[in-house]
Amino acid sequence: MTKTDQERWLRVKDRLRAELGEDVFSSWFASMEIEACEAGAIRQSVPTRFLKSWVQSHYAERLLACWQSEDKDVIRIELVVRSAVLKTATTKPKNGEAEVFNGGAIRHNGGDGRGIPLGDAGAHDALGGSPLDPRLTFDNFVVGRSNTLAHAAARQVATAKRGDPVMFNPLYIHAGVGLGKTHLLQAITWTGNGIGERKVLYLTAEKFMYGFVSALRSQTALAFKEALRGIGVLVIDDLQFLQGKSTQAEFCHTLNALIDAGRQVVIASDRPPSDLESLDDRVRSRLAGGLVVEVGSLGEELRLEILKARVSAARAHHPGFDVPLPVLNYIAKAVTHNGRDLEGALNQLLAQNKLTGHPITLEMAERAVRDLVRPMEPKRVKIEDIQRVVARQYNVSRSDLLSSRRTANVVRPRQVAMYLAKTLTLRSLPEIGRRFGGRDHTTVLHAVRKIENLVGNDMALAEEIEILKRQLQDNP
Ligand code: ADP
Ligand code: MG
Repeated sequence: MTKTDQERWLRVKDRLRAELGEDVFSSWFASMEIEACEAGAIRQSVPTRFLKSWVQSHYAERLLACWQSEDKDVIRIELVVRSAVLKTATTKPKNGEAEVFNGGAIRHNGGDGRGIPLGDAGAHDALGGSPLDPRLTFDNFVVGRSNTLAHAAARQVATAKRGDPVMFNPLYIHAGVGLGKTHLLQAITWTGNGIGERKVLYLTAEKFMYGFVSALRSQTALAFKEALRGIGVLVIDDLQFLQGKSTQAEFCHTLNALIDAGRQVVIASDRPPSDLESLDDRVRSRLAGGLVVEVGSLGEELRLEILKARVSAARAHHPGFDVPLPVLNYIAKAVTHNGRDLEGALNQLLAQNKLTGHPITLEMAERAVRDLVRPMEPKRVKIEDIQRVVARQYNVSRSDLLSSRRTANVVRPRQVAMYLAKTLTLRSLPEIGRRFGGRDHTTVLHAVRKIENLVGNDMALAEEIEILKRQLQDNP
């Protein structure tokens, strides 16, 4: 291992960060280190088995591609778990797990005076609780037909005292996206910790997998029990994202330990327990053994109430903000899918109102809603269509695009087409490579990067691409 290997790794990390975004990067790659580098093989280490298998199954290709764009001769990445690696002088004696363990920052108070003080934020932090949004409280939750039961159950759980008989365990709330699951779960957490009777720990499934489980694994069995003893209510959001056999085993273990000890468990997911295919039968039946409640879609009336609540909340910070009732009625009618889009529509109006100073009109609302619906439901674009439209635009044939010809008049259109395939479809890089005459995924990646860079500086190309996108997305 040389100094330049370390430097190369730093550059690879920059690439990963740029491609994956800061959140993903810091979740999976921040604690990765380079151990050795020889004959085209890079050995890298991570602190836990779980991280290793996660990176292997989700990011192996990406990691290799990033290395290859740094150095074409790299052909293989070998991932190892750090404790199994003999520490060399170049390996920093940093403990990746300890970092994760303390990584869950929490926003105690939104700064607007509405946050509820946490009973013991220290414990929440130490156990790696996920960040909470101070706006997601019971006060701000609008109750309607579709969520009455879920709301009542959530309230009951939030206000139960230590030693009260547990009425339903776990409480399992499921609903489609944007229907208020996270809102209810965080409301339970705020309220429970505000009362201070029982510690409530809120974790997303991702946090559970990465922070909590790996933290527990680094502890002794005794410390594990000790940690659990501190938790009165364990809240897990988005359970459908819980993946991997060993994580599920840890989850099952934790669930049983808590329920058997009379602690409350609350879970949210986008589907009922019976549809969590990857979960083992025993866990599924344990989940189904408490109270399972579904939150139905928000009716128009409820949508209108949510909008009104939002407007008055916004007014606390923006006193001049006002949305006439007909506009609210229109949004409640038009935005049918979920609460997130209601918020999006209002935010757009608020932004326009702030920027232009114009009062909010129905036309503005129509535009906001239209803009919202388009990106939410992108038309499925086919790679063949991309090839056809690009070929026509640049006056080459589709077979030119797929050929191995490297003349400038086909290279650029081919890169544009690959770029569009990456941005407009969900196809992977290798798949796109195959569809472009059996090219390697690194070639596709190179094309995508190339166009991304050019678009930043070349207005004409940016516009061309914008037009191509429109053609592909708007035309049936
Ligand atoms: P989910 O977790 O089910 O995808 P969220 O809890 O994130 O949905 O809700 C999406 C948005 O809609 C949030 O801003 C939330 O506050 C809002 N929302 C959903 N249902 C309600 C409700 N009944 N009252 C107030 N706001 C709601
Ligand atoms: Mg959610």
